[in-house]
Amino acid sequence: MPGSFAIRLRCPVCELDSWVTLPDRSESGDEIRQRTWDFKCRQDGPQQGLPQEVIEVAPLYEERPSPGQESAPRE
Ligand SMILES: [Zn+2]
Repeated sequence: MPGSFAIRLRCPVCELDSWVTLPDRSESGDEIRQRTWDFKCRQDGPQQGLPQEVIEVAPLYEERPSPGQESAPRE
């Protein structure tokens, strides 16, 4: 069953953390944790590394705005 993950990766150059979202992965959280990922540091460009942190996130189904919340008139 596919899951979505958010992983935190640390740039080996400047040690700045970057979060990357991985939607619809077939891997488990452990497998995600044990492999290296490509990511892009804001300062140093493309990097690779092991995740510092892995969070499983709920799939983004049914994210509809609830009706009537935006257009309520206010005086
Ligand atoms: Zn960097």
